[in-house]
Amino acid sequence: MTTLFPSRRIQILLPLPLQGVLDYLAPDDLALQEGDFVEVPLGSKRLQGVVWSMEPPPSDVPDERLKHIYGRFDLPALPDSLMKFIDWVAAYTLSPPGAVLKMAVSVPRAFEQAKSRTAYRLAVEDPEELTAARRKVYDAAVGDMPLSVRDWRDWAGVGEGVIRGMVKAGQMTAVEIRGEDSFPAPDTTLIAPSLSTEQATAGEHFRDLVRKDKFQASLLEGVTGAGKTEVYFEAVHEALLREDSQVLVLVPEIALTAQWLDRFKDRFGEEPVIWHSELTPVQRRRAWWGVIHGNARVVVGARSALFLPFRALKLIVVDEEHSPTYKQEDGVFYHGRDMAVVRAHQADCPVILASATPSLETLVNAESGKYDWLYLGERHGPAEMPDMHAIDMRKFPPASGEWLSDPLREALQQNLERGEQSLLYLNRRGYAPLTLCRTCGHRIQCPHCSAWLVEHKKTGRLQCHHCGHWMNKPRHCPECDSEDSLVACGPGVERVAEEVERLFPEARLAVMASDELNTPGEIRETVAAIVRHEVDIIVGTQIVTKGYHFPDLTLVGVVDSDLGLSGGDMRAAERTWQQLEQVAGRAGRAEKPGTVLFQTFMPEHPVIDALVSGDRDNFLEQEANAREQRGMPPFGKLAAVILSGADYNAVVTVARQLGRAAPRLTGVQVLGPAPAPLAYLRGRHRYRLLVKTEKQVNIQNVLRAWLDSIKISGGVRLQVDIDPVSF
Ligand code: ADP
Ligand code: ZN
Ligand code: ZN
Repeated sequence: MTTLFPSRRIQILLPLPLQGVLDYLAPDDLALQEGDFVEVPLGSKRLQGVVWSMEPPPSDVPDERLKHIYGRFDLPALPDSLMKFIDWVAAYTLSPPGAVLKMAVSVPRAFEQAKSRTAYRLAVEDPEELTAARRKVYDAAVGDMPLSVRDWRDWAGVGEGVIRGMVKAGQMTAVEIRGEDSFPAPDTTLIAPSLSTEQATAGEHFRDLVRKDKFQASLLEGVTGAGKTEVYFEAVHEALLREDSQVLVLVPEIALTAQWLDRFKDRFGEEPVIWHSELTPVQRRRAWWGVIHGNARVVVGARSALFLPFRALKLIVVDEEHSPTYKQEDGVFYHGRDMAVVRAHQADCPVILASATPSLETLVNAESGKYDWLYLGERHGPAEMPDMHAIDMRKFPPASGEWLSDPLREALQQNLERGEQSLLYLNRRGYAPLTLCRTCGHRIQCPHCSAWLVEHKKTGRLQCHHCGHWMNKPRHCPECDSEDSLVACGPGVERVAEEVERLFPEARLAVMASDELNTPGEIRETVAAIVRHEVDIIVGTQIVTKGYHFPDLTLVGVVDSDLGLSGGDMRAAERTWQQLEQVAGRAGRAEKPGTVLFQTFMPEHPVIDALVSGDRDNFLEQEANAREQRGMPPFGKLAAVILSGADYNAVVTVARQLGRAAPRLTGVQVLGPAPAPLAYLRGRHRYRLLVKTEKQVNIQNVLRAWLDSIKISGGVRLQVDIDPVSF
C-alpha cells in the first residue's frame, strides 16, 4: 500500500503506562515540532499524545506498517524542559515514560480546540422561584464566572438541557471567552515589609541568584517563626520583575495554606494559581492552560505541580522541604523535593528549600557546599524561642483512661486564667486507636489490612485509616459475643478533647484533625477563629504543625512524645524530631513568650534531649553518623522492591525467587525478602526487599538487570520505590 501524501516518521509518547514511544507517520506539510499535542489511532481508539521526537532512530518496522496521525491540537507545545524532566523522572524511578507523561497531561479536555468558545454566565440575580436543577446552578455559581455548557454540567451536576433552558429563559447569557483564560498578574510594585538584617541578607542573596538566572540549590534554614516566607518572597518578587517569568512554590498540603495565601495576597496583590489533587476539573484545566500559555505567573501547589507545563520557570521554592508528604507512594513513586531540584536543574533556575527542620539529605548537601546555606537564627520581631521541658510520665502518671499529667493540667489552667491560647498535640485521629474485648481479649482489625480499626466517636464508627473500611461500633464482641465488653484503648484527639472538656468545661475548644476539617474552607474558618481568639484550647493532629502562625498561642503540650519512636524505622528519630520541633514552633510566636511541655516516658531519649536542650546539631550529627556507618541514605543509595498480591503464596514465591536471584556485586547488598511494614493492605499481601548500594553505583542499572531476570506471575504486582522514606 502506498500513502497518498508524502509523510515522515515521528515518535509519539502516549500518556499510558506502555514501555516507551511509538512510531507514527505525519504528513510532510503539517508543521510539527517536538512537544506538539497530536491525536493518533491506537487499536480502535483515538488517543492524545505528544510528539517526542521528529527524528526517530531507524527501526525494523517498514513505513507501510505504521499508522498516520490524525492531526495536531492548537495548543502550545509541551516545553522542552518538561519533556526532559519526564524522561529523567521515568529513568530515575524505573517507570514507563508514558506513566510520567500522564501526570503532566491528565487534565480533563485539555486538548479541546479552544481558541475561543462560548461560555455562559448567570444573567439575573437569584430568582425566588426556581426548579431544583436551576437552583443547583445558582448554588454552584462562583461570582459571575462564565463556564461552558459542559463545565456547568460537571460543576453544578445538572444536565446540559438545564443550562440551555436557562439561556432560553434569559437567566443566563452567552459570552465569548478566549481559550486561555488569563489570571491577573501579581503586582510587583507593592511595598514589602521591612526586613530584619538577617532576613535582608538572605533575601538579597536569593535576589542575586534569581538575577544570575542559573541553577543553584539553596537551603533556607530558619528557626520556627523566623520569617522564611518573607525571605523567599524576595526571590519570588525578583523573578516576577522579569517579563513572562514563572515561579513554582511547592507546599506540603495545599489545603493548609489559607494563611499562606493571605500573605501572598498582601505581598503581591493577587492570589497565586493553585494546583492540587482536589481541584475540580474546571479549575484544573484553567490552571493548566494558564501555565502552558504563560499567564499563570506564580503557581503554589502540591508535588504534582512539578509536572505542569511551565514555559519560563525562573524559580522553584520548596517550603517545609522536610515534609514526608512530598513523597508519592503510588503509581510513579517519587520524592517531590528531590524532583524539584532536578526540575530546577533542567530549567536552569534557582531552587530554594526552606525549613526549620531540614532533612538530613538536604543538610548533608548544605554542609558539603553543594547547596548554598542561608540561616535565620532569630524569630521575627520581639518573639523569643519557647521554653521547652519534658514531663516524665513515670513520675506523673495520669489515672487510667486519662492522658494529661498534673503538670500539663496546671499549665493549661494557668494559661486559661491568663487568657492565652493552648495547643495539645497528638498525632492520632479519632477517639481511640484500638478497640479491645474485655472478656476474650479480641482486638478489632480491618479485614483488608494489617491494622486496627480506629474508633471515631463523632460518627459512632470503627474505621480503617489505610483503606477506608468502616463498621458501626458493635455492642457485642464479634469474637465471643459478650455484650458491652468492648473498650476503647489509648487516646486519639477526640478522646483528649473529651478530657479537656471534662477538666475545663468553660474553655472554648477546637479539634483540628484532617477528618474533622475536610474542606479548605472549613480549615480556613477554624484557623481564622483561632487567630480571632475565639478558641482557648486546640487539640490537633499533624495538620496543626504546618506553618501556622497563631499570635496568642503560648502553650504547647505534646500528649505523647514517644509516639513514632518505636518500631525499626531508621528515620523514626529524625521524623519525630521534625514533627515535635515544628509543633513546638507554634508556641510564643508574637510578643508573649511560649512554653512547650513534652509528655514522655523516655526523657533521656536523644530526640527529647535535642528538643529540650536545643542541641539539635549534636543530635543530627549522631543520626548522620549512624546512617553513615550503615551506608544508609544520604550516604548510600536505597531502593525498595515491593511485591503485592491477593494470593499470599504467590507473593512469597516471587519474593523468594527475587531473593535467590539477588545481584552479587561489590557495593550492592540486598536485604530481605521480609513482610513489608504494612504486610496486608487493601486486601493484598505485601513483601519487601531492600536494595542498598554504595553512592557511586548506578542503582537503576542494578535493579533493571535483576528485575528483568525474573518472570512474575500469579497476579503479583511489583513496584519499585527509589529512595523510600521508611527503612
Ligand atoms: P517561618 O515560616 O520562618 O516559621 P513565618 O514566615 O511564618 O515564619 O513568619 C512568622 C511571622 O512573622 C509571620 O506572621 C510573618 O508575617 C511575620 N514576619 C516575618 N518577617 C516579617 C517582616 N519582615 N515584617 C513583618 N512581619 C514579618
Ligand atoms: Zn470478646
Ligand atoms: Zn483497611
